[in-house]
Amino acid sequence: MKNECNIVRDLLPLYAENMVSDDTAAFVEEHFKECDACKKEYEKIKEPRSVQRNGEAASLQKLGRKLKIIRIRTVVFTAVFVTVLLVSAFAAVSAPIYSPYSEGLVTVEKSSDSKLTLIFDGNVTDFDCDLHDDPEYGDARVCDIEAWTTLWDKWFSKGGEKLSTAIECENKPLYLFYVPNDGGENICLAKYDPKAENQIEPDGETKGVITLPRLVLGYYLILAFAALILTVIVWLSVRKRQNIRLWTERVALYPVAYIISYFIISGINPTSYSINRDFSLAVFLSLLIYGGLLLAHNIWYLKKDIKAINRGKKF
Ligand SMILES: [Zn+2]
Repeated sequence: MKNECNIVRDLLPLYAENMVSDDTAAFVEEHFKECDACKKEYEKIKEPRSVQRNGEAASLQKLGRKLKIIRIRTVVFTAVFVTVLLVSAFAAVSAPIYSPYSEGLVTVEKSSDSKLTLIFDGNVTDFDCDLHDDPEYGDARVCDIEAWTTLWDKWFSKGGEKLSTAIECENKPLYLFYVPNDGGENICLAKYDPKAENQIEPDGETKGVITLPRLVLGYYLILAFAALILTVIVWLSVRKRQNIRLWTERVALYPVAYIISYFIISGINPTSYSINRDFSLAVFLSLLIYGGLLLAHNIWYLKKDIKAINRGKKF
């Protein structure tokens, strides 16, 4: 018996892997019927192997899941990237190209007792009228007019259609100024006085007032750089604590996104005549880019994790 046990024990590893002939298997199974010790030994060999195999399967499954997540994220990432490109292209083709002053750019007509009509030259595809009180002109009101076109309109609008708008002047004198937004002086288009004999008096004179581009966007850019430097300092001091470091990186990505979108929208020019447009576009674009950067950050860490799994450092 003892001798047969030794033979069976030698065969057990092969038998557990189904690597023995039918005859040998039959011999081993016959022996199990008579020998509980060998049967128990066999179960001991078999158990850890199946546990090990289950472990491998689980970690493969985890790896598969992570790969799937990466694939989904890559798709989303591509979508974000394409959207960023589209928004940037939109920003470029819709940027206002301000019309320089010329005679006939804006015609002023009286349409009723309290209303004036402005008619723009056919090349103007958009405009803005800012009607406000100005203490320098006493009782009279002042209307600052800007007119522009865009690359998009230049390429695709049929042109020739004249834009017009009505201005409510409430029977008060009114000064109409054209703001060229090119660093030049503002031009007085006409004076309107409801009590004068010649109610609309064309002017065409400059009043020595220059509307300067606004610097606010430049300040926001400086703020973004300051925030970035601050987060880098925080990162340097917490980089050994993985969780805080991760969150610091996530926060730091926003100023990066803002700086990138600022340069896409405004180029290297720190000033802007169309501050609201530029700022809202920059914020919108920065949110998109931020989403993309967060995803990229995430994928990068996931890939690191997977490398670690492959090297057997995890699980
Ligand atoms: Zn035995």
